[in-house]
Amino acid sequence: MSATTTTQAATLAEIRRIVGAAGVVDDAQDAEPYLIDHRRLYRGRAALIVRPGSTDEVARVVRACRDAGIAIVPQGGNTGYCGGATPDASGSQLLLSLERMRAVREVDAVNHTLTVEAGVILAEVQRAAEAHDLLFPLSLGAEGSCRIGGNLSTNAGGIAVLHYGNARELVLGLEVVLPDGQIWNGLRKLRKNNAGYDLKHLFIGAEGTLGIITAAVLKLFPRPRARATAWLAVADPEAASRLLAQLRGACGDVVTSFEYVPRFALELVLAHIPGTRDPLDTPREHYVLVELMSATPDESLQAALEQALADALAAGTVLDGTLAQSEDQRRAFWRLRETIPEAQTRAGGSLKHDVSVPVSAVATLLARGMQAARAIAPQARVCAYGHVGDGNLHFNFQAPPGQSLEAFVAAHGAAISSALYGEVVQLGGSVCAEHGVGQLKRELLERYSDPVGVAIMRTLKSALDPDDLMNPGKVL
Ligand SMILES: Cc1cc2nc3c(=O)[nH]c(=O)nc-3n(C[C@H](O)[C@H](O)[C@H](O)COP(=O)(O)OP(=O)(O)OC[C@H]3O[C@@H](n4cnc5c(N)ncnc54)[C@H](O)[C@@H]3O)c2cc1C
Repeated sequence: MSATTTTQAATLAEIRRIVGAAGVVDDAQDAEPYLIDHRRLYRGRAALIVRPGSTDEVARVVRACRDAGIAIVPQGGNTGYCGGATPDASGSQLLLSLERMRAVREVDAVNHTLTVEAGVILAEVQRAAEAHDLLFPLSLGAEGSCRIGGNLSTNAGGIAVLHYGNARELVLGLEVVLPDGQIWNGLRKLRKNNAGYDLKHLFIGAEGTLGIITAAVLKLFPRPRARATAWLAVADPEAASRLLAQLRGACGDVVTSFEYVPRFALELVLAHIPGTRDPLDTPREHYVLVELMSATPDESLQAALEQALADALAAGTVLDGTLAQSEDQRRAFWRLRETIPEAQTRAGGSLKHDVSVPVSAVATLLARGMQAARAIAPQARVCAYGHVGDGNLHFNFQAPPGQSLEAFVAAHGAAISSALYGEVVQLGGSVCAEHGVGQLKRELLERYSDPVGVAIMRTLKSALDPDDLMNPGKVL
């Protein structure tokens, strides 16, 4: 054994002592889910998989790794789409899962804040808020398994960004273990704090490359007392954008979700997700799922939506639609939207792009993106859907019938992606909208971002992590 490996072996033994038997995953079968990403694009190996039980244990593990030059890959729920939580294939990295750090440290109902550890599952965060008659509004399809540390590290978006913002906007304070093992206690519960740089924003969206988030103070909101939800057929994507502006004009800031679903995506769901059905009798090409929420038990919310929709029907913006008459019906509408990724997987998978443009440019992007892709692969089946109210589309392509995804991607993937990204950039958009960069989009970040901005990112990275031990090979 070389000197280095002897040191590393001694360090790994020390780390085992720090986290104890419950904090180590040794069994090969148990280790498997930690080493493959959710989309099964990446499979890594790890020198050790650890699950520390406290911030102090995380800090001691990080210090030991720093001294021995062992790189660390943090992991939350491992639902990320860009391979950010998967170690490389060398077998030399340490995978650090936050899953045992699941304490709700404090609920301050008067301050409307919740202090939680990084390993709390998002759905549990939501439930902890509900137990105090409050709302934590971050909500996404993976909420039953993603963890708040992962949500903050990816600056997750989801279905209520239109009203409440991305994960970044939902945080007041953070506790972070830095790459040298120091603990930064930024767990402030303040809504005003201009004491210098706002450091928490460095770590939010950093995908574990600048440190390990161990706890966070989250903002809570009044729980909605009234909801109005509608499944609507619209004339075209342009009409969808116009409808959003009209609804916001007519109903005010209560429009919380505005999701676009094309017929092709709905058909995938109807074909592959048991128990789903088309809410409308006549098939149409374009749909939106609209939700309004109010913190007061306001029956006029439904009436306001009905009136706005009647106006939109008269103007030809909306062609058809139905309002949810019960919670079950509301859930059924949402199921149609939220199971699109699963339906795509069951239908053979897709070439995925997560892009954003200004809301006013969504229809143009849809048209140009489809045209560009069809010029390359006329038979490609476009499945572009998503958070149109945030200008965010999941611009995906299924292989033509009879062709495997692998063959389709090998033949046309690079050309389609490049053409689509070109359109996105021309429209002032981003090629990394809500899923982050991870290892999947590292080159894209470099290629499509402002070079001065990338240089600032590198400066920050080398200042905080000079030895490149914190999730190396991700983001930059
Ligand atoms: C069905 C489905 C629907 C989804 N819908 C959405 C959506 O609507 N919007 C959206 O934004 N995303 C969505 N996602 C993607 C994914 O769920 C989010 O990116 C989520 O925030 C990841 O959380 P996680 O705990 O699984 O993180 P992981 O996948 O474990 O990690 C993600 C990244 O964060 C880092 N990390 C994790 N925990 C920490 C920590 N404590 N400290 C520092 N770094 C850490 C990892 O190293 C990695 O780089 C969806 C995924 C699925 C499977």
